[in-house]
Amino acid sequence: MPFSTLGLSDAIVNALSEKGYQTPSPIQRQAIPAILNGNDVIAAAATGSGKTASFVLPLLQQFSNCNKVRGKRIRSLILTPTRELAVQVEENIRQYGKHTGVTSMAMYGGVDEEPQKQQLIEGVDIVVATPGRLLDLLFQRALYFDELKVLVLDEADRMLDMGFIADINKIIERLPEQRQNLLFSATLSDQVRMLAKTTIHRPIEISL
Ligand code: AMP
Repeated sequence: MPFSTLGLSDAIVNALSEKGYQTPSPIQRQAIPAILNGNDVIAAAATGSGKTASFVLPLLQQFSNCNKVRGKRIRSLILTPTRELAVQVEENIRQYGKHTGVTSMAMYGGVDEEPQKQQLIEGVDIVVATPGRLLDLLFQRALYFDELKVLVLDEADRMLDMGFIADINKIIERLPEQRQNLLFSATLSDQVRMLAKTTIHRPIEISL
């Protein structure tokens, strides 16, 4: 089954075939159509399953033919537990999205804030962030959520294990009520399900 049958555009399918990806992985086959249809999704998916592309590709598709986003506005926020994962996810967005014109940035602590603020001034379609730095910049009014359409919680179980629940809740409080929510986690533990319950509406649940 080729990627094009999932409803992805030529711009995206071509970038995938340039990377040598011919067929979607099981998580991609299930998650991509559900997300493209606008559903909230919670998915149990380990690293190595191809989970990143399963939320990145629908975001790229959705934002491909949009006008340039306004300054300090973003269309999607992907929260990750670590700087390394934020950088890796953002690299995937650049690779898969190289023919789409969709813009992205990684946002994480431990480095100077100024370049990140400068990037935000332009407006960015997809921000991949760790919770602490995102909150810092939010409180400084370096970005606004009024045009946000999609929230992604990546490796939700690790974010909870690392004690990010209070930060995550503070961020979610500030998001527009009308939005799509996607949660990916290695395990759907009770703690993860509790987070999902307060954040995510009538999700399609995927576990492999
Ligand atoms: P992930 O689970 O998102 O960390 O992805 C695991 C690895 O598989 C990454 O190196 C991806 O670049 C690669 N990958 C993702 N989807 C596919 C696919 N459909 N075909 C081949 N490789 C893939």
